Amino acid sequence: MRLSALLAVVLLALPASASPPVYHLLWFDTEDYIEPSADDAALRLATELTRRGVRATFKIVGEKGRVMERRNRQDVIEALARHDIGYHAENHSIPPAPAVYMEKLGLLEGAAEFERREGAGAAGLRRLFGVTPSCYGQPGNSWAPQSNLALRRMGIQVYMDDGKQVGLNDQPFWYGGLLYIFNLGANTIRADINDPAKLAATLRSYDALVAELKRKGGGFIQSYYHPTEFVTTEFWDGVNFRHGAGPEEADWKRPRLRTRESSEQAYRLLLEFVGHARANPDVQFITARDARQLVAPPVDHAPPAEALRLAESIDVNGRYSAAEQLLSLLGMPPRYVDGPTQRGETVFTGNEIARPAFDRARADARDFIEREKRLPIHVWIGSQRISLADFAATLAADTGGATVRLHHGRLDVENHITRDAAGAYNWVIHPKGFAPEALLEQARLQAWTLKPARLR
Ligand SMILES: [Zn+2]
Repeated sequence: MRLSALLAVVLLALPASASPPVYHLLWFDTEDYIEPSADDAALRLATELTRRGVRATFKIVGEKGRVMERRNRQDVIEALARHDIGYHAENHSIPPAPAVYMEKLGLLEGAAEFERREGAGAAGLRRLFGVTPSCYGQPGNSWAPQSNLALRRMGIQVYMDDGKQVGLNDQPFWYGGLLYIFNLGANTIRADINDPAKLAATLRSYDALVAELKRKGGGFIQSYYHPTEFVTTEFWDGVNFRHGAGPEEADWKRPRLRTRESSEQAYRLLLEFVGHARANPDVQFITARDARQLVAPPVDHAPPAEALRLAESIDVNGRYSAAEQLLSLLGMPPRYVDGPTQRGETVFTGNEIARPAFDRARADARDFIEREKRLPIHVWIGSQRISLADFAATLAADTGGATVRLHHGRLDVENHITRDAAGAYNWVIHPKGFAPEALLEQARLQAWTLKPARLR
């Protein structure tokens, strides 16, 4: 065999991932149903990207889909259909926004309300595009943890947006049974479509970001825009629905438009940015649907004994969620379960639990989880109760003696949820001063399900 042929064989034998992959998600919130030229912007972006061989994800508002049909924009619908289709709420900004209507609701009733209000828009997109939307992302920062359960029931497997409520290491993660592409921090990069002078620096930052992710073994980058941004100078919804305002349709105002030159400059800057990214041999553009296939399944096997760290810290441990560690300690097979619906409290006199009583509590916890597919709020020792966190820590520290010493759990996993409710919900559409602490408290309860998403 000649040397070059031998070399070719050796190279072919190397795994395809010899160079760690850097995946770039480019997505567009396609939402403006008030300004008709936003349809043309969606058409132009979808067409230009297709021409360059780049598939993006267009997250479409339910009402936007219906309006495009009413305006006979089959051309836009067909151009968008060549990309991945995600969902971006039923009507986006007409009050009440999702976080507003879910603020006072618990996990289960909030999920039911989300499905009631937002289900039709997703079904409409399914009819219009012939596919179940690959992902959902909230309007503005109107995020709520209850939507996770509803989205699973709606067949949507990915949550893709940006927000500050929950995050893990600036990379995608599993949370609430969904793949979250969210809060990517420094791995979110956008070319400024208004200022050509900034482009060169953005392209340099982009290359540095790719190099950094490669060094770390690969990862994900995201960039997002709105088609309407390319034709207007102000957001369509801020003009009409600011601070929870709800004018009737007859009173809706159109946003101010860009000049033709300003619009052309915006397209040019975005496409130069995309062209630069595409030319980088380490980068692959992917969609939300692709991302779901590229990451390992959410639950593949049970944590090994050394990963069961709940006695010291209730937190993500390596690749395992706190819930997975608890199921393993209970001797249950690995599977996804939701976090508890409320924060439990330990009301127990003394610090020793008799073995038979503890064993009954353990069996009861297993039964609850099997039946409800969710972690319990607390377990019972007679008429006294032990919070989920204390139960998990006690179970992890149990050495098998005649009595079981009560341990107190340290819920470090809750540190992955922001404490800044006002900052995380500062969207202009929300009522002034909106700071839904109750939603973040529920988010903390669901942090039991949090863990990193690993590449396959
Ligand atoms: Zn939006």
